[in-house]
Amino acid sequence: MVKLHDLEFEPYISEEEINTAIDKVAQDLNRDYQNDNPIFLGVLNGAFMFASEVIKRFKGDCEVSFVKLGSYLGTNTTGEVKTLLGLNQSLAGRRVILLEDIVDTGNTLQEINKILLDEKVVDYEVASLFYKPEAYKKEFNIKYRGIDIPNKFIVGYGLDYDGLGRNLTEVYKLKESNMTNLVLFGPPGAGKGTQAE
Ligand code: 5GP
Ligand code: MG
Ligand code: MG
Repeated sequence: MVKLHDLEFEPYISEEEINTAIDKVAQDLNRDYQNDNPIFLGVLNGAFMFASEVIKRFKGDCEVSFVKLGSYLGTNTTGEVKTLLGLNQSLAGRRVILLEDIVDTGNTLQEINKILLDEKVVDYEVASLFYKPEAYKKEFNIKYRGIDIPNKFIVGYGLDYDGLGRNLTEVYKLKESNMTNLVLFGPPGAGKGTQAE
């Protein structure tokens, strides 16, 4: 059991299970990209650990970069505008693999895709360590998936609850006994204005 801020979390996915899932993703990426010098784009903050592990297992040449989804207020008519921070090279003519920690509703991913698909890439795929099939609402196919999970709130292995828990080497899920807090106050992180982390 771990306590982060006000909430208790219990062990859910072991380091061994995570490593097995990453081995499989890396095997598929080696099969599909080994000779093509792809660019891996890790999405900060959550994907740092997954990105490190999967890239260590990649056998061919590759480039590595990290991006972060940001937003600013545009004009009244445009409202909030999303930007991708950290992308300082052209992706034109390249094979690009976006590395995500988790895909939940897919809203974040959709914003990132909108920006990246303006670039003249050769092809573009997403590899996500965790994926919530029941929550995902978008068309875009996530080709490389580590572990499918039900609609639960997890922390560890890069994923945080309000800034804490990213350093945990295994994954924990929110204890059911915390659920009354959630009903009353919304899910962890809700209303804090942070996203895509
Ligand atoms: P989406 O836009 O797909 O709904 O959610 C993407 C982002 O929400 C992730 O990058 C992550 O920051 C956060 N998120 C979604 N599900 C979880 C979860 O179970 N645990 C944690 N810690 N963050 C999550
Ligand atoms: Mg993410
Ligand atoms: Mg977060």
